[in-house]
Amino acid sequence: MAEVLVLVDHADGQVKKTTAELLTIARSLGTPSAVFVGSNVDAARPRLAQFGAEKVYVIDNADVDNYLVAPLAEALYAVVQQASPAAVLLPSTSHNKEAAARLAIKTESGLITDATAVEAAGDGVSTTQSVFAGSYTVKSTVTKGAPIITIKPNVVPPSAAQASATVVPVELTVSDAAKGAKITAREPKAKSGRPELTEAAIVVSGGRGTGGDFSPVETFADTLGAAVGASRAAVDAGWYPHSNQVGQTGKQVSPQLYVAAGISGAIQHRAGMQTSKTIIAINKDEEAPIFELVDFGVVGDLFTVLPQATEAVQKA
Ligand code: FAD
Repeated sequence: MAEVLVLVDHADGQVKKTTAELLTIARSLGTPSAVFVGSNVDAARPRLAQFGAEKVYVIDNADVDNYLVAPLAEALYAVVQQASPAAVLLPSTSHNKEAAARLAIKTESGLITDATAVEAAGDGVSTTQSVFAGSYTVKSTVTKGAPIITIKPNVVPPSAAQASATVVPVELTVSDAAKGAKITAREPKAKSGRPELTEAAIVVSGGRGTGGDFSPVETFADTLGAAVGASRAAVDAGWYPHSNQVGQTGKQVSPQLYVAAGISGAIQHRAGMQTSKTIIAINKDEEAPIFELVDFGVVGDLFTVLPQATEAVQKA
């Protein structure tokens, strides 16, 4: 079976869940190989092996770390030339989408971004995207070259399948042309202790209905081990950081469970969460549009319902 490359999303060798998801998808298309960019591959190998990576192509080159995007595209291109893969899969982040586009130009292949499903179709690959703020589902297939596909998080449950994760070093000299934008400082965000919004299996979000008091939202989220999201109204009011905004101009999430508290369900908010597996809304207005897309709805005051739900979960 042809190789399918998966770009590893990691922090100093700690492999993120999206990589396990992409390796799971890659196994349905061919033989998965991971592409690891960085210096700590030893820390990453066990998890890459656990989710089925037969090979791990390693690019350990400081220039890829020190310059924005273009060197990553060159690194991926070097692996593509070596492996001649059937497809290249990347986690959908703005950084990776730019790298994927640059790679597609180099390989003269078709590019599909933000896929929510990827499956084998004859000799090719069929993908699904949710577009126009989620009002349409589009199915596409790449007709030229090896498909390059960025995939949203949480679209499949990761499933383990042990493989050898054999390390294959890849030589790379980054071109001067790719060194157009240098990273001058990296400052880690203060850690909240909660899972990352786009990676979390459960997201609890608050909107204008919180009136600026996110404490019941945060307490419920912590009880479930969930990430906290916010509507733009809550962010614009200065109640929550923009990094937690869910929606068209915020983050796109696709967790197993999404809880919207005091959020009306505007189309721009839906665009960021409607591919969630199960959606629960708490809103005191029974006519709120959010109730059109929920699996479970509670008509009530979030300041009453969330503490009750928190207590019920704690007792369970
Ligand atoms: P509201 O629409 O005001 O809804 C508040 C809800 O809370 C109401 O339904 C009310 O019944 C309920 N409520 C009030 N008190 C309580 C209570 N005590 N208990 C329970 N329920 C209560 N929005 C986003 O979220 N994300 C985006 O990325 C985004 N991008 C945008 C991009 C563009 C170009 C534009 C034009 C808009 C965008 N918006 C986005 C804004 C969007 O249109 C809505 O204005 C916003 O989502 C509304 O936020 P909300 O639901 O919190 O507030």
